[in-house]
Amino acid sequence: MTQSKDIYRHEGKITREGREKRNRHKGVTIWLTGLSASGKSSIACLLEERLFERGCHAVVLDGDNVRHGLNKDLGFSKEDRDENIRRISELAVLLTTKGIITIAAFISPYKEDRRRARALHSGDFIEVFLNCPLGVCEQRDPKGLYKKARAGELKCFTGIDDPYEEPEASELVLDTCKDDLERCVDDIIEYLAKTGILM
Ligand code: ADP
Repeated sequence: MTQSKDIYRHEGKITREGREKRNRHKGVTIWLTGLSASGKSSIACLLEERLFERGCHAVVLDGDNVRHGLNKDLGFSKEDRDENIRRISELAVLLTTKGIITIAAFISPYKEDRRRARALHSGDFIEVFLNCPLGVCEQRDPKGLYKKARAGELKCFTGIDDPYEEPEASELVLDTCKDDLERCVDDIIEYLAKTGILM
């Protein structure tokens, strides 16, 4: 579809700087990537809670939730996964440029998709790789998805019959098989404080 040339951007009067000053934190996207069951949703939820307690404006965009609504027309082919991440990235940019801490929890298995997500953000992007061996994720299997994938009932499952391309230069790597949930969230908050995102 070609874009209409009659579309204009509307700028509000409230500036990003104004919002950030009042919020006492910058807008940023924290992009959690990792295998299914590596801990994305658990970390995203606890991080959101901790940031909320500190008075921050933080929202979670979670893979499963987004696929129930915004992206319910998309499946798990390479093309659909690309489009899934593209839409989420655009949404994250809209939120982040309004001074929100956007916590994006998506497997996002392809390097190229993550690179594009980062490029859209003009710097407001922290990639956090939840490093957890496939064997541990499979043991955890909180939703029983690995079991289904191994039984052939679920096709194109990341780590089983679909690739996961590990990040090589994430801002943060968390060992979610060694460190507990609290420690992982503390590490992210420490990073936000150290880099001046939390003022
Ligand atoms: P994902 O969103 O990546 O599929 P979930 O958060 O749904 O993963 O599930 C991860 C499971 O692993 C949960 O049952 C969680 O309690 C457990 N877990 C154990 N240690 C950790 C950790 N350090 N970080 C996150 N989750 C952990």
